[in-house]
Amino acid sequence: MLSETLHNALNDQMNFEFYSAHTYLAMAAYCTSENYDGFANFFLVQAEEERFHAMKLYNFINDMGYRATIQGFESPENDFSSVLESFKIALLHEKEVTRRIYELSDIALDEREHATMAFLKWFIDEQVEEEATIDTLIHKFERIVNDSNAIFMLDAELAGRTFTAPEV
Ligand code: FE
Repeated sequence: MLSETLHNALNDQMNFEFYSAHTYLAMAAYCTSENYDGFANFFLVQAEEERFHAMKLYNFINDMGYRATIQGFESPENDFSSVLESFKIALLHEKEVTRRIYELSDIALDEREHATMAFLKWFIDEQVEEEATIDTLIHKFERIVNDSNAIFMLDAELAGRTFTAPEV
């Protein structure tokens, strides 16, 4: 049994994950327009991951006997001054996701809703991964930012990233 507060908070997070997919899709489109197909691929895979996160919440809400409500949202940022800037904005976005997941977990904890707490543990772990991946890329990028050959190689490396739905 979920309280209305917790049900709504889970639903909000589901919608925010869909919004995250949009955010990364916009970054992918920017990178493609700058002819960085590898960086674009990184963000396309990221968008798929976000949709997977949203669907995890969607399924959980259904499994708990409630209905997921799909909402619209504001347009994400579409304009970036550089690929590096898009990665920096991506990191800020992930930090915001982490903050929201923690807030959601706090509600579940306050309500002693153990099924939701167990479910959210996966998201808490995932956020550590998400922030670390993007943070590492920013550091690599900053180290090579004036070396076009190195940027070419990093772009090529990221072209190989693929999405595989994690075992859950
Ligand atoms: Fe996510």
